[in-house]
Amino acid sequence: MCGIVGYVGSRDATPLLVSGLRRLEYRGYDSAGVAVQEDGQLEVRRAEGKLDNLVQVIAQKPVSGTSGIGHTRWATHGRPSEHNAHPHVDCGAVTAVIHNGIIENFEELKVPLLRAGHRFTSETDTEVVVHMLEDELKQGRSLEEAALRVVPRLEGAAALAFVSAKDPGKIVAARVSNAGGVIVGYGKGENHLASDIPALLEHTRTVSFVEPGEFAVITANEVRFLGRDGRPVEKSRTTITWDPVTAAKAGYKHFMLKEIHEQPRVLSDTLLGRVDRGSGRVIFDEDVRIADEQVRRLQRITLLGCGTAGYAALAGKYLIERLARIPCDVEIPSEYRYRDPVVTQDQLVVALTQSGETVDTLAAIDEARKGGARVLAIVNAMGSQASRVADDVIYLHAGPEISVASTKAYTTMLADLYLLAVFLGQRRGTFDQGAAGKLLAELFHLPTLVDAVLAEEPKVKALAYRYHQSKDFLYLGRGINYPTALEGAHKLKELSYSHAEGAAAGEMKHGINALIDESLPVVAIALQDGTYRKMVSNIQEVRARAGTVIALANDDDEDIGQHASDVIRIPRTNDLLSPILAVVPLHLFAYHVADRRGNDVDQPRNLAKAVTVE
Ligand code: GLU
Repeated sequence: MCGIVGYVGSRDATPLLVSGLRRLEYRGYDSAGVAVQEDGQLEVRRAEGKLDNLVQVIAQKPVSGTSGIGHTRWATHGRPSEHNAHPHVDCGAVTAVIHNGIIENFEELKVPLLRAGHRFTSETDTEVVVHMLEDELKQGRSLEEAALRVVPRLEGAAALAFVSAKDPGKIVAARVSNAGGVIVGYGKGENHLASDIPALLEHTRTVSFVEPGEFAVITANEVRFLGRDGRPVEKSRTTITWDPVTAAKAGYKHFMLKEIHEQPRVLSDTLLGRVDRGSGRVIFDEDVRIADEQVRRLQRITLLGCGTAGYAALAGKYLIERLARIPCDVEIPSEYRYRDPVVTQDQLVVALTQSGETVDTLAAIDEARKGGARVLAIVNAMGSQASRVADDVIYLHAGPEISVASTKAYTTMLADLYLLAVFLGQRRGTFDQGAAGKLLAELFHLPTLVDAVLAEEPKVKALAYRYHQSKDFLYLGRGINYPTALEGAHKLKELSYSHAEGAAAGEMKHGINALIDESLPVVAIALQDGTYRKMVSNIQEVRARAGTVIALANDDDEDIGQHASDVIRIPRTNDLLSPILAVVPLHLFAYHVADRRGNDVDQPRNLAKAVTVE
């Protein structure tokens, strides 16, 4: 998930590319770069860190020309650094590529290129593409002919743009799948390219969207679109009426809502390349190095996370204990770090943090390492402190999360924990290959089911509007959806400023029942798993005390309506995956309650995104 821009015309491309990148910086800020065609040569400037660093590099070593491409990176393969920054160039520095997404088969593609003598200068998945283009261009092909031969060989998710000094005054862009947008903006005697509308608005409001499988060939005076087979594609033009702020949010009212709706795509990104097609085994990137032998010797796993990451950690306990049969405990990092915990060498500590910079989690990691435990970090931000100090790292691949309240990072954490549980189980032999295949098939079907849940948003919104004035809420769940109840309540508190409590439904008789009266809405997660009957009994107990029940149930549950005042429905899936579906309407509910109250949804009072102080 990064920002890409391009310009071909008669003005100086460099400042235009930089200002386009500025609008896209929210999509990635690990590093940035531009490639500009100057006097028949390709000139590249790149810098690690925020865009301002690139601006300084350009100030020290200016570059100007009338066409070029630019990129702001959200690293997925290779740490954030100057040499991993895009654009990447071929061996002769004649052709350059920028890329948004992940090329799943890059290792396979790299082998013959290395054998043929290509020199690689980065650890990215992206760089293979430019060396493949180099070979095609050497045969005398045009840039689009070369792209048409190379792009179909890429697997995974990719939006790409190329320039070459061999074919000057031209940008070729391609979209392999749903990996973010590729949008062409039309000007007079010039044309623009960007991955998102905000970067185009200062130049034009007339655009065309490149669809998956299509190519755009852009020069100053002409834009052509081609299909996979190289045949011309007729393209309509759209006029954008959004203001720049709405555009950054892709038309959504808040980043939180945008991020909720991104989940089908980012869940697919998280799953990309994580099952070995030959063996059917879960594999992670090269950042997970734990040996099979060490997995077999593990005696205990400790999961750590603050806030929402802590609820993901709790769900992780259910997943790992069920699938890999390793005893797990869940710890609050700010307690763990000061408690003088018992740490052993046959223990794995799994630290969950979206930013990778959460101060208490980092201190807890230190504590665990001092005791000799192996540390595996599950993080979103590549190159963050947690990813640098951990022995193993699993990335969420969720793209930047701007909203303070976490949504897509939570569901991708759950997906990664599920993968981790299968990974551990496969190495410890806790289930056979057939069972593993089924578990993974269900996981891969999940993005489609999340899409179906999102389609129910109008109903959830209506409920939120009905209940938005309530001062207290209770969320009940059992089993693996007990953490979902905690997360649902947590999100409502963060955003609406109402009091909300999450509880394991079996605990009601031990105290919580005293809270129930007609003014307390109770959100009960009652999915058709092993805990369903018990949940229905709990719901009846609430009703008997005049409580109002909003049930979260499966869409084929015909009985639940008799017990609940309102029902939110989600599709059925395996019970271990159900938290990923169940939390989506709860996040939407919290969002709409807060929005109805007029609260600042993206930046709730007294809260910040990455908690880097104690
Ligand atoms: N996979 C590429 C990389 O890690 C592109 C990441 C992005 O979309 O920014 O460099």
